Amino acid sequence: MSSKEKVFINGDLSDATSAKISPFDRGFLFADGVYELIPFFSNKPFLLDEHYLRLSRSLQKMEIKNPYTEEEWKSHISNLVETTDLKNFYLYIQVTRGTPELNGVSRKRDHVYPEDYKSTVFMFLSEITLLSQDDISSGQEAITLEDMRWYLCDIKSISLAYNAYARDLANKKGAFESILKRDNLITEGSSSNIFIIKNNKIITPKSNNLILHGITRGFVFKLAKKMNIEILEKDITYEDLMNSDEVFVTNSTQSVVPISVIDGKKINSGSAGPLSLELSKNFISEYQ
Ligand code: PMP
Repeated sequence: MSSKEKVFINGDLSDATSAKISPFDRGFLFADGVYELIPFFSNKPFLLDEHYLRLSRSLQKMEIKNPYTEEEWKSHISNLVETTDLKNFYLYIQVTRGTPELNGVSRKRDHVYPEDYKSTVFMFLSEITLLSQDDISSGQEAITLEDMRWYLCDIKSISLAYNAYARDLANKKGAFESILKRDNLITEGSSSNIFIIKNNKIITPKSNNLILHGITRGFVFKLAKKMNIEILEKDITYEDLMNSDEVFVTNSTQSVVPISVIDGKKINSGSAGPLSLELSKNFISEYQ
């Protein structure tokens, strides 16, 4: 961390090394909060409005107060962004239900919360390191795992213990991502959305409460249409996944990542498939 790195907390820019949030914050005690992650490429936000819309929806669904208007958010964001020399980075935004008080005293730890609380807003910036072209062309390895999360995965909740467990397990096994499945149906990756390609059609699970409605996922729909490739939202079984022609995952920091091996079995003879590679290439040229 650079010594002059700034973070945003509740309206103020502070030094990252000395910034403070109460340990009684409900984000810390209950994971009672939501977050958003917005990529900036060459210092420009990518799909800022879409990310802002998802943040306000997550807040609404969790009934957490949104402390700022859209204009205030944008002004706070640009003040923070002005403090960095980074070119490719992400902005992390976390909004929690804060530290509710009762008669002027912190409630410490109480499941119940009063109506008059002040949300905590925390934002920081961090560099994005993109996968190399070689890593994209060879495709990445994934494992599959039972999806044991709650049923509100469309909310970008900070309660990410299972996602972190799944991603860490993949990492321990030398893989890039864990693909989650619920009752034999594929949902998404631990931190990505999933797509398969079969007979030149792109298929991805439906955008219901079992997956995060990825901003990159939405952009892939637009790209596919531009490229005249049919794209469908449909159930994907474990067998569909393993017998697909190509597989790729998407998220804001890595865009489109081809998957070439799943549970030790090769997909598309063990390297990135041609359509996934084309999507990845077109994606990159859209934001550069
Ligand atoms: N699903 C999960 C569980 C994620 O954590 C992410 C990344 N935040 C995604 C999907 C992809 O979403 P996005 O394209 O908006 O980054």
